[in-house]
Amino acid sequence: MKAARLYGPGDIRLEEVADPRPQDGQVLVKVEACGVCPSDIRSYYGTAKQTWTPGHEASGVLAQIAGGHSGGPAVGDRVAIDWRHVCGECFYCLTGNPNFCERREDFQIAGFAEYTVVPQAVVHTLPPNVSFDDASFCEPLACVLNAYRVIHAPFGADVVVIGAGPVGLMHAQVALRHGARVIVVDKLEPRLAVASQLGAHDVINASDGDAVAQVLELTHGHGAGAVVVAANSATAVEQAIAMARKGGVVNLFAGIYPATELRLDPNLVHYSEISLTGSHDYAPAEFALALRLIEHGIIKVAPLVSNRYPLSDIAIAFETARDQQALKSIIHPHDTEVS
Ligand SMILES: [Zn+2]
Ligand SMILES: [Zn+2]
Repeated sequence: MKAARLYGPGDIRLEEVADPRPQDGQVLVKVEACGVCPSDIRSYYGTAKQTWTPGHEASGVLAQIAGGHSGGPAVGDRVAIDWRHVCGECFYCLTGNPNFCERREDFQIAGFAEYTVVPQAVVHTLPPNVSFDDASFCEPLACVLNAYRVIHAPFGADVVVIGAGPVGLMHAQVALRHGARVIVVDKLEPRLAVASQLGAHDVINASDGDAVAQVLELTHGHGAGAVVVAANSATAVEQAIAMARKGGVVNLFAGIYPATELRLDPNLVHYSEISLTGSHDYAPAEFALALRLIEHGIIKVAPLVSNRYPLSDIAIAFETARDQQALKSIIHPHDTEVS
């Protein structure tokens, strides 16, 4: 089969590799769609320890089950793959934080390939109205849902989302569904236009003037009840803290690279009771919930797809995603043309 193989910074190649073979308890999935994630772009430009096949936002058709069918999806079913197979038994799994599982089954999903082998337990049957592209959003949407364990945005609260990439646009929708008044901040007008189409009440182009002042103006000088940073920027985090109202929550949703430090006035946390929170990964239940929200159109993901590429164009897909010229780029391993 064909698979993309990452050799080093900026060096990803389409190669012929041995067909993967499932062992007992595993299944073979014919990959039909795999989303390009910011973490893939980081791997692409970072230093890989060994040659490998990235891609973890994958969906496809169940092609083979090894060791007997255990009652989940059957051969021929369309499926989404939850790449985080948590153990359910470690300290974090047993204390309600399976997103930090210490014994996650270490399988490499390798979604940027024609086929992949994964544990039988991680495939979820797709409802008929959920496309493969839609299903590739289960993973990033699950991460967004996990953040709502720490973002307390009561009905009617002002919520700011900084960064209107695919993840920021899912955050905006989840906040809207919680009854929030949503303000989206980005520097790219086309992304802000999508935010407005999806229902954001206000959008701020951070390249025209001071975004903090604009949020304060829109909130009558109080600031927002919750501010989500879905952008790789320490400056955005500092701005987020300045945008929060007294008693507000700031969520650091995005990883920030290269590693850096924040300037933080500790008295803001003390006197204004601003909570700094982070969120990372998700629990299995959040993956299943993400699929339900997509199935019922509660969260819309189709407007977040901007580009689709065959596997042979993976380097172009990564470069386009890095330059933020796209929203979500999705690889279709069995297609031969760009759509
Ligand atoms: Zn991802
Ligand atoms: Zn665990």
